[in-house]
Amino acid sequence: MQAVILSIGDELALGQTVDTNTAYLAARLAERGIKTLYHQTLADDETLIAGALSDASVAADLVLVTGGLGPTKDDLTRQALARAMGVELHEDAESLKQIEAFFAGRSKPMSESNRVQALLPVGSTGIKNDRGTAPGIRATLGKATIFVMPGVPHEMRGMYDAAVLPALEQSGSGMVILTTKINTFGLGESAVGQMLGDLMDRNSNPTVGTTVAGGIVSVRIRSEFPDPGGARQQLETTAAAVEKRLGAIVFGRDEQTLAATLLDELRTAGLTIATAESCTGGLIGTMLTDIPGSSDVYAGDWVTYTNAMKVSQLGVPTELIETHGAVSGQTVCAMAAGALERSSADIALSVSGIAGPGGGTPDKPVGTVWLGIASRRAGVVPHVEAVMAKFPGDRASVRNRAAMCALQMARLHLSGASFNDMTWVIRTHNND
Ligand code: AMP
Ligand code: MG
Repeated sequence: MQAVILSIGDELALGQTVDTNTAYLAARLAERGIKTLYHQTLADDETLIAGALSDASVAADLVLVTGGLGPTKDDLTRQALARAMGVELHEDAESLKQIEAFFAGRSKPMSESNRVQALLPVGSTGIKNDRGTAPGIRATLGKATIFVMPGVPHEMRGMYDAAVLPALEQSGSGMVILTTKINTFGLGESAVGQMLGDLMDRNSNPTVGTTVAGGIVSVRIRSEFPDPGGARQQLETTAAAVEKRLGAIVFGRDEQTLAATLLDELRTAGLTIATAESCTGGLIGTMLTDIPGSSDVYAGDWVTYTNAMKVSQLGVPTELIETHGAVSGQTVCAMAAGALERSSADIALSVSGIAGPGGGTPDKPVGTVWLGIASRRAGVVPHVEAVMAKFPGDRASVRNRAAMCALQMARLHLSGASFNDMTWVIRTHNND
């Protein structure tokens, strides 16, 4: 079975609302082994929608449509479907009853414009909407089955589960496709590709590929088998092989964040962490406190933006900043040591850098960031070291990567792996 997805609405075509329905539906179809051939986003235009429906019904056996079922003049999907089918609209008694019941259930009068929503193309059937007023429509056009669902995402999802999924299960499709994403931070895409080696062979199943966004290199695995059990097992086997090859730079699957993984690992190890930030201005603290319940392992943050604050709040010696500069291995080591001592945490991270756009020098260009780590894990005397990294991109991306890099340094430190090999690290500084 092959599918086409159409999303309808002026606001989508104009880019004012991001079309999330299509991505959701394509992923749900893929779970059932149904391949989506293409999708289109169309303005609320009857002729345009009718034409797209006709084309889709030739290309695919399944056409999923969302949007344009509302009660107002700009919602024209039902009219367009009738036109593509070459039939009239008629008032469907059952749909009208459901719309009336929806309003009665909320003790609200039904406005006359809502009557339009009970109109269906002759020969189609209404689909009950448990979450809103607009009933969906099921119709046949040529060889294709068409499902029209409301545009409101949660109404659409409800209707997909209640009406579309059971119909697909009945028709029985061939293959099951499962996917997962393994996220890494620290090495570039080519280095990750090299480590994966033969796992990335083009003709294997599951397939393994890489994508990169914001410094995070993700390994995407796609497993396609006739039975769900086989697809799941093969997916897990390949995922485990990928994780083993990549080792400590892997921080999580799917939507798991680096900060959440670090907090879990600290919790398991019974350790606490503190942070001292300059150019990241609290970003590391935000990433850690975005995760609920982090206070058991995260002590807190110093945002010391000026030299004076680095001196007064963290005890960084003035002469040290004067001699080496605020963006130096010596300064971030002193920041980390100061944060460690004042917070009584087991590990402290520090960051000082040049996020740009101004402030760069030939010696320390924009993107230059020193990251420090102090730890008492090794013994009574804290171990303190730092790395210098050079991050690409604008201010936001330099700051984001610096924060991610600091979090990953802590993870690599915990696992005993070296962080000097991370792609952006170009110098190291050791206080010992
Ligand atoms: P409609 O069913 O066309 O009246 O859409 C109702 C509302 O749902 C719109 O105003 C949008 O905010 C939202 N919506 C419609 N289609 C989509 C879509 N494809 N993705 C995300 N939101 C949508
Ligand atoms: Mg609309």
